Amino acid sequence: MFNQKVAWITGASSGIGEALAVALARQGARLVLSARREDELQRVALATGLPAEAVLVLPLDVTDADDLAEKVQTVLARFGRIDYVFQNAGITQRSLVQNTDPSVYQRLMAVNFFGPVALTQAILPHMLAQKSGHFVVTSSVAGKIGVKQRSGYCASKHALHGFFDALRAEVANSGLRVTMVCPGYIRTPISSSALSASGEVYGKSDKAQEQGMPADECARRILKAVASGREEVYIGGVETWGIYL
Ligand code: NDP
Repeated sequence: MFNQKVAWITGASSGIGEALAVALARQGARLVLSARREDELQRVALATGLPAEAVLVLPLDVTDADDLAEKVQTVLARFGRIDYVFQNAGITQRSLVQNTDPSVYQRLMAVNFFGPVALTQAILPHMLAQKSGHFVVTSSVAGKIGVKQRSGYCASKHALHGFFDALRAEVANSGLRVTMVCPGYIRTPISSSALSASGEVYGKSDKAQEQGMPADECARRILKAVASGREEVYIGGVETWGIYL
């Protein structure tokens, strides 16, 4: 399924994105690894075990929309096509609505929503020309329900469903696909970098996060869902939803 395919992963320097990189490499994919921290991307590139010609480390900030057209050209120059885009980069928060500085909402929307929108718009013309391509979007359980202390995170993830469900309808006859992924708690460092009410980094890991599903199991389930053509998949089960509410 993924053998020799070109898969671009955002948020590839850590957590679920890192696990996706390793899992896709095992299945023979060629990879484009993106996030802001180049040293971490280099570490992940090594961990995939892929030869240098099969992996492109492409640091980017998803909020820097001006840069994306050039990045797409870099990928096309290297691999000639883009088969899968795992829109996975994301940040979260820990703050009540009553305390949250408006800048925190701006930041969550910039990274989690406008980032994927801009990357989609940069890549879409090439996928339409190819008549194939698959957007795989890491939303969350919080993209389907409201969760305490995650108001901006929930809003950004809900917005992704609206945008990508509309895109799926638009490209239905163009050979393109969209899969929305809604995990529960996955064991990654995301909670320690959550934004506080003032926009500072939260700085400590949630207990529930530490007890979540291992990221490699999450990645395995994402790839299984993508391979079987699922439009939406829930990973982590309803038992983890209770932790959120
Ligand atoms: P991590 O914190 O481990 O990974 C987040 C990734 O996003 C990092 O690679 C980070 O890299 C990247 N990133 C953050 N901001 C930017 C930016 N501005 N531009 C480019 N890359 C950025 O968290 P997870 O692996 O847990 O999160 C991955 C996705 O899964 C997120 O969208 C998250 O919302 C979602 N998710 C996670 C759940 C969980 O329980 N872990 C549950 C449900 C959904 P860098 O800092 O190098 O830029």
